Amino acid sequence: MRTPTGRRLTVGAALLAAAATTLAVTTTAGAFGDTPTHASAHGAVKNVILLIGDGMGDSEITLARDYTVGAAGRLSMDRLPFTGAYTTYAVHADGTPDYVTDSAASGTGWATGHKTVNGRIAKTPDTDKAVPTLLELAQRNGLATGSVTTAELTDATPAVLASHVTDRSCQGPADMAACPADTITAGGPGSIAEQSVNHKVDVLLGGGRQRFEQPVTAGPYRGGTVTDQARKLGYQVVTDSAGLAGVDAGKPVLGLFAAGNVPVEWTGKAAAVGGTAPQRCTTRNPNRPAGTPSLADSATKAIELLTAKQKHSGKGFFLQVEGASIDKQDHAADPCGQIGETVAFDRAVQVARAYAAKHPDTLVVTTADHGHSSQIVPVEAAPPGLSSTLVTDEGQQLKVSYGTNTPGKSQEHTGTQVRIAAQGPHGDRVLGVTDQTDLFTTIRTALALR
Ligand SMILES: [Zn+2]
Repeated sequence: MRTPTGRRLTVGAALLAAAATTLAVTTTAGAFGDTPTHASAHGAVKNVILLIGDGMGDSEITLARDYTVGAAGRLSMDRLPFTGAYTTYAVHADGTPDYVTDSAASGTGWATGHKTVNGRIAKTPDTDKAVPTLLELAQRNGLATGSVTTAELTDATPAVLASHVTDRSCQGPADMAACPADTITAGGPGSIAEQSVNHKVDVLLGGGRQRFEQPVTAGPYRGGTVTDQARKLGYQVVTDSAGLAGVDAGKPVLGLFAAGNVPVEWTGKAAAVGGTAPQRCTTRNPNRPAGTPSLADSATKAIELLTAKQKHSGKGFFLQVEGASIDKQDHAADPCGQIGETVAFDRAVQVARAYAAKHPDTLVVTTADHGHSSQIVPVEAAPPGLSSTLVTDEGQQLKVSYGTNTPGKSQEHTGTQVRIAAQGPHGDRVLGVTDQTDLFTTIRTALALR
């Protein structure tokens, strides 16, 4: 086996290796305090932390690596011991492949093991029937559950775990135009926001306050907002870091840190036709309010709350952590915004790895839901579309091109395979080339979910 630093060890040194891994991350693992335990390669998995970099294809990872730690450096996500690739295609209603997925179909793939049509949330492509999700199975098996994102909590990736709707646009009670059969009036389960709190997910942290402030229009919670509904269901609702720090670990938590998406970490000039002057990114977004938790802060708190909830049950947890705005800044052809979000995601990966180092019965998986537009091209290239030249931390020029749509339009996802990497027992199941739907089976098998 290999440690994350690449030293080769004999099988007999497995315990030493586990100890070395623990030592290597001691500085960041301190927050979780417990003594380490040891698990074999296919031993029982108690906890799963799944981290999704939305739109984080190989070029997005390479761009963040080149800019920050340098071409020869390694990000946290590069240090997971098992790395493979997986395919992400969606399907048409008749089951034929749709080669470029969106986050809804993609999320439905990994969350349910079923491929579906673009835009659909945890329902079948043809009959539009709900299919069980990893989070629902985890709850049924007594695990604590959490979902953390930098997008709205009603956006596609968190939505595929805790709701089932015909179309991803049906985020709040006032957004149901594309989901007539899902409305409470029609006997359906309601919007993504309503379903998410009805699911009693233990920890929900992200943006999207605007969806939860919409009035509920039918059913037992009519007359209040979705936030009121959440409170009636026992949720503590918080809106900033101070509120999050003060929550009671005994009750579910709904953290709504922005009206829409959580503001990005970094800013800079967007890519332009003919390129930009060489630029350095601003690593502190002046429009990001003080008191907005970072993705790593939210992941740390989520792990703390989930472990506290399970303190007496002996059972584990399933946590999903999404770096959502890698995708959104890629759509906007904003390389600095995109890199800053990838770096923020990588810090959350470090939090997960630090926890797993102290709790080796934890499986950590990092992957993306689909590839995206940005490509690193030669500095002397003259791309016909949008491009920007960056000056990296190691002082070199790097040119990034966004050419998947006409300048002025949203840049598009790509249909490429993406990286999937893992650490912990059952982590070797990501090796080779697998499909997104196989991740559902990997996590279901690892947690022995029935
Ligand atoms: Zn997207």
